[in-house]
Amino acid sequence: MTVDPHGSESPEIRTEAIETLLVKKGLVQSAAVDALVERYEQDIGPLRGARVVAEAWTDPEFRARLLEDGMPAIRELGFGDNTDSHVARLVVKENTDAVHNLVVCTLCSCYPWAVLGLPPAWYKSPAYRSRAVREPRRLLAELGLDLSPDVEVRVWDSSAEVRYMVLPQRPQGTDELGVEELTALVSRDSMIGVERP
Ligand code: FE
Repeated sequence: MTVDPHGSESPEIRTEAIETLLVKKGLVQSAAVDALVERYEQDIGPLRGARVVAEAWTDPEFRARLLEDGMPAIRELGFGDNTDSHVARLVVKENTDAVHNLVVCTLCSCYPWAVLGLPPAWYKSPAYRSRAVREPRRLLAELGLDLSPDVEVRVWDSSAEVRYMVLPQRPQGTDELGVEELTALVSRDSMIGVERP
């Protein structure tokens, strides 16, 4: 994937420029922005999402509720604060032997940040956004995820109204593990659909 996270189009640089401007105009305080970013980087995601996945792997009823309607199920785990106002709907798509799901926002950078925190830089890159739709299989292969030809790839385009998260398959040989240990196996990228746990 040709991604230049430090190019002039980089969302980081643009964000930084906006932040500088807002601070200069006295509209926000730099410390407040830092605190918010830190919160989304460390407290919220992607640990919340990983915990949700581990819970779904170990509790079939929770899994069913999660797939039915993501947000209420996630609130059951006590992750209700601050998640409602930003995301209208969270739809969880389950990977199976037959189906692999991939999350993208072709328009901009919509991301399930209530559960995954801040998106990685590449998620916002034009290359990822276009190739995820145009040639998802090849993109995934380049990212190290080779899917067998009989696995169907489904690409979910996020929007302001609907955010998607992937429920990856539970790795084999993890029957003995509890929620805590399983949580540690779940990577952010596996919940976007570009990696396996
Ligand atoms: Fe977007």
